[in-house]
Amino acid sequence: MERTLILIKPDGIQRGLIGEVIKRFERKGLKLIGIKMMTLDEAVLREHYAHIASKSFYPGVENFMKSTPVIAMCWEGVEAVETVRMLAGITKARAAAPGTVRGDFAMSVACNVIHASDSYDTAVKEVKRFFKPDELFEYDKTEYLHVYLEDEIAGNR
Ligand code: ADP
Repeated sequence: MERTLILIKPDGIQRGLIGEVIKRFERKGLKLIGIKMMTLDEAVLREHYAHIASKSFYPGVENFMKSTPVIAMCWEGVEAVETVRMLAGITKARAAAPGTVRGDFAMSVACNVIHASDSYDTAVKEVKRFFKPDELFEYDKTEYLHVYLEDEIAGNR
């Protein structure tokens, strides 16, 4: 099963969207295997956002991401990385498709409610960055009997 990282960003916290965001991934059939509230410091943000750290807008993004704690979550499912990205919507929230988190709840390019890992390899790194092994949980989700056929689960990474 793939695992992927979602962060509820400070705009999501301030605007009371924590429950709304969790609800969307839960009802899709994904499995929550780790969740915590945490404050992000400059060091972790520079690592997490290394690919945009040289951009002129980066200082603004860093200040925004430090402005409140965030909710970090690890979700699991068959092809979970791609599925979560699809449900998140594109970066520029005001142009994101209706039905996505960003499309339904945001107008900004920077304040776009959630972060979601953008590839399998990134997800592996990001889950490790935000969660210690004992903060991730393995358990049977009985709902899976109705979410997947057994052979869809078998053979998935
Ligand atoms: P995504 O979060 O959709 O994967 P990126 O990895 O390109 O997008 O960017 C990381 C985050 O940096 C975005 O979610 C957004 O908060 C911020 N960001 C990206 N591009 C801009 C921009 N042009 N202006 C302001 N903030 C931006």
